[in-house]
Amino acid sequence: MSAPLALSGFMGAGKTSIGRRLARSRGLVFVDLDVEIEAAFARSIPEIFARFGEAAFRAMELRLLRQALALPDRVVALGGGAVASPEARALLTRDATWVHLAVPFHELQRRVRADRDSARPLWSDPEAARRLYDARAPLYAEAPLQIDAEGPPDVVARSIASRLEGTDTLARRPADHPAERLRVPIPGEEYDVVVGRGLEGVADAVGGVGDGPIAVLTDWNVGPLHLDALLAALRTTGRPLVSATLPAGEEHKGMRPVLDAVDRLLDAGWQRRAPVVALGGGVLGDMAGLVAALVLRGVPFVQVPTTLLAMVDSSVGGKVGVNHRRGKNLIGQFHQPALVWTDLAYLDTLEDRELRAGLGEVVKTALIGDPELLARLEADPDAYLRRDPATLADAVLRCCRVKARIVAEDAHERGRRALLNLGHTVGHGLEVVCGYGRLRHGEAVAIGLVAAAALGSALGVTDPGLTPRLTSLLSRLGLPTQAPAVDISALANAISRDKKLKGDSLQWILMDETGEAAIRALPVHRLQEHLAQLVAAGVLEARGGG
Ligand code: NAD
Repeated sequence: MSAPLALSGFMGAGKTSIGRRLARSRGLVFVDLDVEIEAAFARSIPEIFARFGEAAFRAMELRLLRQALALPDRVVALGGGAVASPEARALLTRDATWVHLAVPFHELQRRVRADRDSARPLWSDPEAARRLYDARAPLYAEAPLQIDAEGPPDVVARSIASRLEGTDTLARRPADHPAERLRVPIPGEEYDVVVGRGLEGVADAVGGVGDGPIAVLTDWNVGPLHLDALLAALRTTGRPLVSATLPAGEEHKGMRPVLDAVDRLLDAGWQRRAPVVALGGGVLGDMAGLVAALVLRGVPFVQVPTTLLAMVDSSVGGKVGVNHRRGKNLIGQFHQPALVWTDLAYLDTLEDRELRAGLGEVVKTALIGDPELLARLEADPDAYLRRDPATLADAVLRCCRVKARIVAEDAHERGRRALLNLGHTVGHGLEVVCGYGRLRHGEAVAIGLVAAAALGSALGVTDPGLTPRLTSLLSRLGLPTQAPAVDISALANAISRDKKLKGDSLQWILMDETGEAAIRALPVHRLQEHLAQLVAAGVLEARGGG
């Protein structure tokens, strides 16, 4: 176990890039406090300031800082102003190894000018930026470890690591987990899901799929962290390797990157038996799977999931696809992988917010098909949040077992497989109306699960005790249970355009009296009324008379 490390610095000092590198080099979790605050409010930082004011922002920042420092094995990047509060400085001094990244003002100004994508309004007024820099200097000076951060991020990260050598900060995480293998018995398309820790065996497993070259597709966040290691392992297969990096994030999950990757493979003279490997989360896996389904009408496909969500859900089952401006995942295919290689070590670099989003799908799966998993989540949610290796391995295996069972019965979603859409009717609608990327998919599903429970109990089909029970569990897992304010008519439109419309009915998944998930067709003309019931139950909030 390693004591938490906190990085402070003025805007542009490199807290995120240096923090990520440090965390990755030691197998620690990286936490970006600004990202956590945005998740807690489900809004961007400028929106939080505009709507709730700075005091609310700082109060949340302090609360989340306290939470982040209570957990071991973390590198925490602070927001530029986090040190303004005396309580925050006291916490940093007491509960963390507080390292300040010192960068002269002229260098920060140079970096901001060079970074054309940077939207940092403060820098539009350099005088104001200078005043703030001077005002914060004495606060930053309280950090016991001052690091010259003028150089490139790799060099600064190495110099921090060497200054902390021999202390219990940045100590390596131990623990390996032996591989387990389970079979997804889809008739004629069976495949294995291998769950373990470490890349040993990956070359044999992937090398056993198809023939000829291997293409590894990844995204621009996962690539710099994990692509080289996977390619190095696959090189021992002796097969030619091709790799391509697609954009990351739900807002980029569309046909453009898919067609670019298809071009790339066809230009390389791709062959029918040459596999495509997806190294990434659910967004990348869904896009890479569609590439594999389209090239030459289908080439072998391997999933190497790197988020918890992808490990517990999207990598298994063969649904691949992308979003369309009219809705989520409206373009797609069924294309089963030939292998799912789940290396739990990838979770070491995943941000906390993304881990929690994955837990949204874990709760969904537990509700649908694993009461024991639900009991374990309720008994000790912290074990999941602090990433206890055996707990996460158990969750991944249990979820894959449930999913394998359901998709083997109904690979093309003609019936029972729709149960896996529990929480997705409202969840997908919220993702669309909030704008892709604002709510993580797993966060939208968490709100959708509460919505399904609340609607079910309003309609008299679900035990009324389920809504408070779920709300409590999801909150303890750090997941949202109420949607941000949205235009309810726009939400109704988005829901009715989703794939769940059959004739005049919408297919909802609701829990029945016995606690089983069941498919219910509800008339689409009553959708507004159902959403009003969810507003009354406090799950949804209507914006501006919506
Ligand atoms: P994601 O793929 O966007 O990953 C989340 C973020 O984490 C991204 O920025 C990514 O670059 C980054 N990331 C991934 N792995 C990382 C790692 N190991 N270290 C550091 N950063 C990492 O999101 P997701 O939550 O994995 O997937 C959500 C998507 O999955 C949605 O589009 C949803 O529709 C889809 N989905 C599909 C199915 C299915 O059956 N096909 C099921 C559930 C969800």
